[in-house]
Amino acid sequence: MRRSAIVLGAGMVGVSVSLHLRRRRWDVVLVDRQGPGEGASFGNGGLIQREAVYPHAFPRAAAELRRIARNRAIDVAYHPLALPGFVSPLLRYWWHSAPERYLRAVQGHARLIATCLDEHLALARDAGAAGLLRPIGWMRLYDRASALEAALRQAEAARRDFGVNYAGLDARALAVAEPHLMIEKAGAIHWTDPFSVSDPYALTLAYARLFTASGGVIATGDAATLQRGAAGWRVQTADGPVEAATTVVALGIASARATRRFGYAPPLFGKRGYHRHYRLRGNAVLNRPVLDTDSGFLLAPMRGGIRLTTGVEFARPDAPPTPVQLDRAEPVARRLLPLSDRTDATPWMGVRPCTPDMLPIIGKAPGEDGLWCAFGHAHQGLTLGPTTGRLVAEMMTGEAPFLDPAPYRPDRF
Ligand SMILES: Cc1cc2nc3c(=O)[nH]c(=O)nc-3n(C[C@H](O)[C@H](O)[C@H](O)COP(=O)(O)OP(=O)(O)OC[C@H]3O[C@@H](n4cnc5c(N)ncnc54)[C@H](O)[C@@H]3O)c2cc1C
Repeated sequence: MRRSAIVLGAGMVGVSVSLHLRRRRWDVVLVDRQGPGEGASFGNGGLIQREAVYPHAFPRAAAELRRIARNRAIDVAYHPLALPGFVSPLLRYWWHSAPERYLRAVQGHARLIATCLDEHLALARDAGAAGLLRPIGWMRLYDRASALEAALRQAEAARRDFGVNYAGLDARALAVAEPHLMIEKAGAIHWTDPFSVSDPYALTLAYARLFTASGGVIATGDAATLQRGAAGWRVQTADGPVEAATTVVALGIASARATRRFGYAPPLFGKRGYHRHYRLRGNAVLNRPVLDTDSGFLLAPMRGGIRLTTGVEFARPDAPPTPVQLDRAEPVARRLLPLSDRTDATPWMGVRPCTPDMLPIIGKAPGEDGLWCAFGHAHQGLTLGPTTGRLVAEMMTGEAPFLDPAPYRPDRF
């Protein structure tokens, strides 16, 4: 019973934790109230972001804050009535985004990001899913030459400090790389390291299948039934109660609700995002994902069509979807690319699980024996799932972790 775990949440993070524990011959039951990969891991932008060494900071320029406050932007929107619930985490987010503190977040984030491609490849090859990881990178498009130049300077700093690779493209090179863009841009930064996943849901499912093929068990159940049991922990599932010595909470945005019952209440907050798919007209192609910097949406070629994903929406946790950003982005996207019909009946919505200091929460929960945390991966949970999975498994088994887990320790909150 000692080497046994209940993993709560079968998103990219929970599936990866389960796989890594199973590889160390632990008895693992992965519990979710839905099928694997049906939360935020289902419909994201599909980028394995080796370049994302700088986590998303809270904007601090007054002009930027005024723009967001008007609540008409494509990249950020909010429900005014939800704002009181966000005051505390957003103030803390703003505080951690001050230049000297942000530096700490960058160091912690960059160290996690550094091995994301290798960690995915190690799982994807065994899962027969390496074909989903397209080594084509992605591009950030710029309208203004001055913005492109500033971004190139930051990209060069990222290359120097963190070893990420990119190519700068002027208008002509961009037109050659993406011949069906219909608007002339000042240029682009092509981040050349990242993988673009053609179907993020399929990737999570492939890892989940590898987990069951190696003897792991997936069960349907609600994390709200987690309680202390004779062996350590117990949860109710559709197949009856399951007991294990340890529990890993990997419930994405629902994680804090689960840990709060056991005395640990991290300041997790959600940034919602949406997607919708489109067909392209005629023979048009999009060779790789492109992010329109000035508008703040991503267009990514996927199995299901061209996936348009939006930036951030702040809303109450149970508020119904309000995909206004998709509606704002669509006409801009149609001017950029020859999009034809939508292919989904309704937009998809997911929630990014965020922390005020921009770092995930990975490690042993304070105060409770055998309760582990693996959540708070914000904008990069698809990227970091396998990295976190390995780190958690190494800590739980008492191996030397492959990187210092101190910056992510739960008791910092
Ligand atoms: C629009 C958008 C675009 C994004 N693009 C990218 C990207 O390009 N690259 C990237 O790296 N990241 C991206 N992200 C972020 C990424 O999707 C998330 O960080 C990641 O999916 C989080 O994974 P997770 O396993 O922690 O959570 P989830 O995938 O949300 O999994 C949590 C699981 O917990 C289960 N659960 C919840 N409550 C309970 C309960 N009570 N009982 C049982 N089970 C429960 C859910 O059913 C779910 O399966 C994007 C997110 C959004 C919204």
